[in-house]
Amino acid sequence: MSQNFLHKIEKHLPAPVRRTGEQPDSAKLSAEIKKLLKEKNAALIAHYYTDSDVQRLAEESGGFIGDSLEMARFGAESPAQTLVVAGVKFMGETAKILSPQKTVLMPDLKAECSLDLGCEPAEFKKFIEANPGRTVVVYANTSAEVKAMADWVVTSSMAVDLIKHLTSRGEKIIWAPDRYLGDYIARQSGGDVLLWDACCVVHAEFDATRISELQERYPEAEVLVHPEAKADVIALANVVGSTSQLLKAAQQSSAQKFIVATETGIFYKMQQACPGKKFIAAGTEPYGGKVDCEANCPWMKMNGLENLLEALKTGNNQINLAADIIEKAMLPLTRMLEFRKKN
Ligand code: SF4
Repeated sequence: MSQNFLHKIEKHLPAPVRRTGEQPDSAKLSAEIKKLLKEKNAALIAHYYTDSDVQRLAEESGGFIGDSLEMARFGAESPAQTLVVAGVKFMGETAKILSPQKTVLMPDLKAECSLDLGCEPAEFKKFIEANPGRTVVVYANTSAEVKAMADWVVTSSMAVDLIKHLTSRGEKIIWAPDRYLGDYIARQSGGDVLLWDACCVVHAEFDATRISELQERYPEAEVLVHPEAKADVIALANVVGSTSQLLKAAQQSSAQKFIVATETGIFYKMQQACPGKKFIAAGTEPYGGKVDCEANCPWMKMNGLENLLEALKTGNNQINLAADIIEKAMLPLTRMLEFRKKN
């Protein structure tokens, strides 16, 4: 764990928000938002890690719930003129890059991500310059500026496939920003992968000892792990995959119990997709002894019905990006979408 990285993100960490169940006025707020979405020809696109009332509203209003790749795809293909992105800032930026003619709104522009915060464009530029001749592959969880410097953008669902493909062409890789995911990809692909030093503080909290204790208690349970977790946690997994891949695994498995090592927002969809099955939150320990999220992303939880309604009413919290950044970042993003279609 790098002190430098912790120092970078510490000042941005919002107070943890741990909502439990429905907000008292959620029916009224949801009705108002649905009406405005229609009037403004807008679609609500929510990430799996947002609160259940936000996800439910996305479903009920004809919008979308997904992981970052699916959100990007839906936004680009949707006929809606306004995209309301309930997630974190890089997701709003990705929607804007792929649909520059559309208005992209977010409930709170301060909803960041420790990976994006841990990879400042100026520092990353120096890193690329110090390591010439390598193909630059960045995770979707980066700013538009960082994407604009990359050859490829990937999500966790396709990262291993892409690095295998590039390695088979003899390419050496720079990978940023998640070093745990990068380490996993390097081990899976056998590629030459140079890692940037940042991580998702939510997934890095999952703790192998705590998970082993749960396995002793629930020996029949399968362990589902997101690859942003540390290697010793990944080693305990029955299935390693992106949020969508873990959801699919839970649906397809004959197991009735699962220990889940990803952000807790996914439990809404997992319970909905597998009504009879039991999902147990994997154990965590504070990251670096300091960051204690208990698998709740503090930035994802900044998306609520109140600020969503406010953004729709006022048109505030728009994502705006410079034309040259959009143009440069569009290329590696389009490559990502094309690669996914073919593979
Ligand atoms: S869960 Fe991790 S990767 Fe996802 S938005 Fe939060 S900090 Fe970023």
